[in-house]
Amino acid sequence: MDGNGRWAKQRHLPRAMGHQRGVDAVRTLVRAARQMGLEVLTLYAFSTENWRRSEDEVSTLMGLLKRYIQADLDEFVANNVRLKIIGEYRALASDIVELLDHALERTAQNDGTTLVVALNYGSQDEIARAAAKAAAKGPITPETIDAELDTAGLPPLDLLIRTSGEVRLSNFLLWQAAYAEMIFTDVLWPDFTPDHLRAALEEFSTRERRYGGR
Ligand code: MG
Repeated sequence: MDGNGRWAKQRHLPRAMGHQRGVDAVRTLVRAARQMGLEVLTLYAFSTENWRRSEDEVSTLMGLLKRYIQADLDEFVANNVRLKIIGEYRALASDIVELLDHALERTAQNDGTTLVVALNYGSQDEIARAAAKAAAKGPITPETIDAELDTAGLPPLDLLIRTSGEVRLSNFLLWQAAYAEMIFTDVLWPDFTPDHLRAALEEFSTRERRYGGR
């Protein structure tokens, strides 16, 4: 989810406003994903590198995360949405960790759309942690690493969408993206609507996936 800052800048608004509108886009998109029957929607909310931002911006982002989960948790429960976190979220502030644990527990039995939120997430960090766990148990193979990733148990990644015109992965789901289709769009995250998602899925459905075969 990239482009909140530029969205705000274009309107001569503070960056925090861009992040707020980014959350509005998240809320709308999660509802749409559920209605479309998407099995999994993963959102890159806060990376291991985002700590480099100003204290002020980090606390704005954490505050928005907290308020979003607080405000929408009942809706997740009512609509069979299962929440899952990837990344080292336990390193976040204790009130947020408690809230997330509570939300995870309340939605654990749901089997509709799984909303995966990447928090304090970095793919290289995830792979290193998974490799260490795999090594402690036995031989390191792609399968044993895969089974220790934060995404273990989720279906393979089909489609990765990056907003805001950047064409890079920025440490997101590097391992999982091995055979994922990718879509890069210039749309800034706060402007990303369910119609953009539908268009991306449409484009995805036209791609021929060969997984290295021919
Ligand atoms: Mg950015």
